[in-house]
Amino acid sequence: MKAEADFNTPAILLRRIEYGDHDLILSVITPDRGKLALMAKAAKRSRRRFGGVLDLFAILELSCRAGRRGRLPLLAEASLCESLGTLRTDVAKTAYASYWAELVHFWGEEGQPQPALYALLHDVLTALDLDRLPARVLSLHFQLRFMGLAGLGPRLGACVGCQRSVEEVGAARLGFDPVRGGVICRDCERVPRLPVSRGAIKELAWVAGGDLVRVQRMRCSDEALRMGEALMETFVPFHLGREVRSLKFLRNLRESGALA
Ligand SMILES: [Zn+2]
Repeated sequence: MKAEADFNTPAILLRRIEYGDHDLILSVITPDRGKLALMAKAAKRSRRRFGGVLDLFAILELSCRAGRRGRLPLLAEASLCESLGTLRTDVAKTAYASYWAELVHFWGEEGQPQPALYALLHDVLTALDLDRLPARVLSLHFQLRFMGLAGLGPRLGACVGCQRSVEEVGAARLGFDPVRGGVICRDCERVPRLPVSRGAIKELAWVAGGDLVRVQRMRCSDEALRMGEALMETFVPFHLGREVRSLKFLRNLRESGALA
């Protein structure tokens, strides 16, 4: 068997897990190696060990030593590319960034190149830090694109039951079926669990199909944001097949009025 070589990689820090008295295990997403777990020796004991840059959501450049005999790769050096500091000091931003990072942590594939997923997370975290777009819009964009990359993008153009396009069914006759993963008309489901308007569906399709530059050019209506949040935050955990803990935190903040 060929020995794993040492490597350098850009990375976004998703999670820090304490290991023993001194060490941290880091979960990161990288473009070429997908999701990766790394051992950071002595990083728990001393914040200065890696120059104090191992903060959640930070964009880093890492040098790693190959793991010996099935062990985790060892972090040798870390340098900071972008700190994205407001993601850790503004509680609303922390809530959104934690939700996106949790999805990538649990769903990112290990050892497989994932440049599109890396770029997506990089772009939404950076835009959130710089207030380029409202967090709600970024979160919708992230969830729609994330599901699309996983091959589970919701079907927004036609009814998942009878296949008629959203143009063919009346404007007031739409719902969303999280189980079947798309729009459903009221002939196929009389009382939809998640009612949506045709206008909101069209805005969501736009957010799903575009990059951030394109999304920046549109103004999402409040109705589309509300409906989009309700359906994506039901749809994503359903297909993830597990509870998303940071989503609970995000919802609690929203209900308490702490999210602008
Ligand atoms: Zn139908």
